[in-house]
Amino acid sequence: MADVIVLGAGMIGVSTALALQARGRDVLLIDRKAPGRETSYGNGGLIHGEAAEPHPMPRDLSALWNIALRRDNNIHWTFDALPSQARALFDYWWHSQPARHMELSKTYHAITARSPADHRGLIEAAGASDIIRDKGYRNGFGSKDGFDRGRAAAQAVADRWGLKLRVLSGDELAAAEPALTRRYAGAIEWQDAISCTDPGALVQAYADLFARRGGTVEKSEISAIAPIGKGWRVHGSAGAHEAADLVLAAGPWTPRLIAPLGYRLRMVRKRGYHLHFKGGTSLDMIFADADRTGVLIPTRLGTRLLTGAQVVREGAAPNPVQLAKVEAQTREFIDLGRRVEAQPWHGDRPCMPDMLPVVGALSKHRGLWLNTGHGHQGFTLGPTTAELLADDMLTGQTAHPVLRPARLGL
Ligand SMILES: Cc1cc2nc3c(=O)[nH]c(=O)nc-3n(C[C@H](O)[C@H](O)[C@H](O)COP(=O)(O)OP(=O)(O)OC[C@H]3O[C@@H](n4cnc5c(N)ncnc54)[C@H](O)[C@@H]3O)c2cc1C
Repeated sequence: MADVIVLGAGMIGVSTALALQARGRDVLLIDRKAPGRETSYGNGGLIHGEAAEPHPMPRDLSALWNIALRRDNNIHWTFDALPSQARALFDYWWHSQPARHMELSKTYHAITARSPADHRGLIEAAGASDIIRDKGYRNGFGSKDGFDRGRAAAQAVADRWGLKLRVLSGDELAAAEPALTRRYAGAIEWQDAISCTDPGALVQAYADLFARRGGTVEKSEISAIAPIGKGWRVHGSAGAHEAADLVLAAGPWTPRLIAPLGYRLRMVRKRGYHLHFKGGTSLDMIFADADRTGVLIPTRLGTRLLTGAQVVREGAAPNPVQLAKVEAQTREFIDLGRRVEAQPWHGDRPCMPDMLPVVGALSKHRGLWLNTGHGHQGFTLGPTTAELLADDMLTGQTAHPVLRPARLGL
């Protein structure tokens, strides 16, 4: 019998298993798929050391109006999502007030700023340096006005949190990225981020490291979790297991797992889609055109084109309407080549209404822990919140008690 079961082998669960193992715990890591095949597979691969401020919900009326009318291709929604998402969206709107957002950003900055360093130790130990680039990303601006506004806004954020920003003229951008066919007024480059050319492979490499260090990874679909005498039993397709502690790191599926125990974890489900392209020209660095939607990511699998957010109910059928527009817009400034996959990938960012991950013990049950709700930056934050949770589990202390589920009444 293991000491701890970690349920979910995405970036969060695998990192948690490693952090607990490093503290001498005997850990069983369970997932229904191979490690890193869900949300942690299809993301942008950015390790966002620069993400000091989490993504707030737009609050000005014209932006909200454009979202309501589905004029903003960055954010899409469907009517069937509203019954399950309305309350979480209202809370998200409330927490996005400027003063509240700034308060939350202090914690967010503290955890994202250390994230590249927390990854680096694991990257080295896992032998995964070949899929890491010491490069952040760029935003390009087509007009001088847009560039002036974008640069001023970015500089304000950089000054507030001490971030490294490089400003490129249109000529400098053209020299750095000859693949861009549009003439830009300029670009900004965030230099505190690093990136990964194959996010799913990095999670797999961390899982392999965990296994090499003596940990066990089991493929099993867990159908129920239940308290037993002094611990927990999980029932799965590969059988039942018991342990003193159970960590739930099941990303967007976590609310469903704890609901039968009486916990209601409200998430905003922001779905994203991607497709890969090959045979066109390729970029040196992750790039977004600020006048269009979508993000371009050079990966080992081709150029990955990502959409913004689609607010969905859990399990909603794919509806990649944003992707078609993103692809058409992107072809205006780069030769993308041909589509690699017939169908786009999709995954739901597990976003908390207050934009902070949920890391710590659930109140009504002994030995039941959450590490979830990492929203837009879970690939970044895996090793960091894993360290925080492992400290809390072993010492009862954490550097950021505000992240505990207690803040949500859970
Ligand atoms: C389009 C897009 C772009 C993104 N870009 C970035 C980025 O550039 N940088 C960044 O930091 N973040 C990014 N993110 C966010 C990031 O991908 C997520 O926050 C992160 O992957 C969440 O990790 P996780 O381990 O919590 O969830 P997941 O990776 O989804 O892992 C959860 C695991 O739990 C397993 N599971 C669930 N239920 C069960 C069950 N009953 N039994 C067994 N196993 C179960 C699943 O199979 C899954 O493997 C992006 C997300 C999207 C969608």
